[in-house]
Amino acid sequence: MSNITPQSGILDITPYQGGTAHVPGISNAVKLSSNENPFGPSDAAKEAFRKASFTLHRYPASDHAALRRAIAEHHGLDPERIICGNGSDEIIAFLCQAYAGPGDEVIHTEHGFGMYRISTLANGASPVEVRERERVTDVDAILAACNGATKLVFIANPNNPTGTMIGEGEIARLASGLPDHVLLVLDGAYAEYVEGYDGGSALVEARQNVVMTRTFSKLYGLGGLRIGWAYGPEHVISVLGRVRGPFNLSSAAQAAAEAAIRDTAWADKCRVDNARWRGWLAEALAEHGVPSDTSLANFILARFANQAEAEACDDHLKSEGLIVRRVAGYNLPNCLRITVGDEASCRRVAHAVGQFMATAR
Ligand SMILES: *Cc1c(COP(=O)(O)O)cnc(C)c1O
Repeated sequence: MSNITPQSGILDITPYQGGTAHVPGISNAVKLSSNENPFGPSDAAKEAFRKASFTLHRYPASDHAALRRAIAEHHGLDPERIICGNGSDEIIAFLCQAYAGPGDEVIHTEHGFGMYRISTLANGASPVEVRERERVTDVDAILAACNGATKLVFIANPNNPTGTMIGEGEIARLASGLPDHVLLVLDGAYAEYVEGYDGGSALVEARQNVVMTRTFSKLYGLGGLRIGWAYGPEHVISVLGRVRGPFNLSSAAQAAAEAAIRDTAWADKCRVDNARWRGWLAEALAEHGVPSDTSLANFILARFANQAEAEACDDHLKSEGLIVRRVAGYNLPNCLRITVGDEASCRRVAHAVGQFMATAR
């Protein structure tokens, strides 16, 4: 036995499990388990990444000025109130490190993204899980769960893994109803997929208690490079800037992200394609007796009769070389989360689910 022990909370963490990437014995499996863009990043981003290879001996910009300017121009934001992270996961970690410690509570929703709980525990604070209403964020339940110890509220909108979202009026009602010592975090990892939705940036500008996080990992197809960012009130951005390491984003990541956000044609193509095949896939699964909530993101949460049926379908999909995500860890044992792939992948998934359902019930 050793007397060397970690800080409180650390041993309560169940390490994050990413989506499976391989099926043993199958070489051309399709990965639909991590909400990745099936088309990858824009050619402009790939070219910027290649060019960055010539200056890899230089340290990256520590202020991310060029990238923040590109983000600000694209979204019409103030670049001084943007902070970049090594993925938005790092921004979530900064927020917990800066605002939550032992004795504090951090709220996330019943089927909320797993990193909220992990980062909360990593800083010795207590995660508080608030129930949803039929897999949709429940503003009244969150407000009722707040108390003097609450420091942060995390909402993903649209949420992962449910794909559902709440309207801007509901978010504003949540922001204005919170006690004045609580910071609301709007995780907009999938905001780019929602036509006309600003991810909450107008609310950030109107208030002092809201911060929005975003990522280049989903629509922009740059998950492998780890680039996220946040937009917040000056007081929050200033605090996060103090815990951020100076070289948290590589030069290649900064260059690729800047090129990616300037290539609006590629982003538009991916958004339109996703919406089209998401609708097609949801309908095809429903015809096979597998319903899903209307998803606003790049995945569908397929609901089965029970856990055994969901797992049996997952096994069948794997045998067909199709990798989707089990979400029992998100309190959704009877569901499978399926990323919207390209047309061929969507057709293969629908066909395989149909085959399975023809024999399942
Ligand atoms: C994928 C995802 C992220 C993580 O994004 P990174 O920028 O790759 O760290 C954050 N929040 C939600 C809800 C996600 O689904």
